[in-house]
Amino acid sequence: MRLVNHPILCNYYLTYKCNATCSFCDIWEKPSSYASLKTIKENFKDLKKLGVKVIDFTGGEPLLHPNLPDILKEAKAHKFITTVTTNALLYPKKAKSLVGLIDMLHFSLDSSIAEQHNQMRGVSCFDFVIKSINIALSLGEKPDILFTVFKDNFDQIKPVYDQIVTPNKLVLILNPAFEYNNLSVNNSLTHKQLNELSAWGKKPNIYLNEAFIELKKNGGNSIIKPVCKAASSTIVISPDNKLILPCYHLNKESIAINGKLMQAYSSPLVKEAIKMEGRWTECAGCTINCYMQPSFAVELNKYWLKALPSTLKYNYYKGTWRQLFR
Ligand code: SF4
Ligand code: SF4
Repeated sequence: MRLVNHPILCNYYLTYKCNATCSFCDIWEKPSSYASLKTIKENFKDLKKLGVKVIDFTGGEPLLHPNLPDILKEAKAHKFITTVTTNALLYPKKAKSLVGLIDMLHFSLDSSIAEQHNQMRGVSCFDFVIKSINIALSLGEKPDILFTVFKDNFDQIKPVYDQIVTPNKLVLILNPAFEYNNLSVNNSLTHKQLNELSAWGKKPNIYLNEAFIELKKNGGNSIIKPVCKAASSTIVISPDNKLILPCYHLNKESIAINGKLMQAYSSPLVKEAIKMEGRWTECAGCTINCYMQPSFAVELNKYWLKALPSTLKYNYYKGTWRQLFR
């Protein structure tokens, strides 16, 4: 049964540029512009009308965008819940300008060992993460640690939790890595590891969406009976102001927005993408978190039930649960 019939999330790609070169990501290889402040402001009005609650300002590295503070101020003026994930390289420089503007601020950290984290990220950013935690806390921010879980860093969950998350009273987000297109992350977590992840998710100050585990155990999205609701739950906007369908990763179609997002969203291409979401051959076995998370939220099924406790727990920690139901 469908619970929500409008998009709830916008994945707003501010740029595809990145100052890291993570081994499990290929976005940074793309040539890219920066989204213009003018088009962003125009799109916010229509995102509001479409019912979007949360905007994930993403990239690439969102802190590279020269107008990020102004973008976030405008988003807050429209009462969107804002989320930003950063590799932290630029956070120390920009922290003061971002205070109070990000509801869910995530620092990516995949190991307690500097060399391992830096090797995974392709740049020396471990020290910047540690410095950024201290700066954010001193400014009254409540940052989270976003830990991307691979086979090779699984044993680092405990040291990151014990040595970095707990002493700083942070929240640890466990994000199982996913594969897409031809980018293999060699990450088939074993059944035992998936069960261990579930156990981690039940500890205080850890957020793990249990529905991800269920989906992985079930072999990912089924194209016969898809759980994916990417096109109907999420709006994806590219740095050059195009509506991307059905998701960033598949990118079957794009529509130039030109100040008319509402009009673009009512086009036959969107209707077709919604009809086909999760049903393309490439969608078989998909576990892309960025689209599965909103998919779990809009339809009452076993994944919705699995996702509910962790979703409430995280929004309680962040103080955003009231905003979700406005
Ligand atoms: S920091 Fe993020 S966008 Fe940049 S290369 Fe790594 S995963 Fe990709
Ligand atoms: S199943 Fe995956 S690839 Fe297919 S539309 Fe959904 S998120 Fe995109």
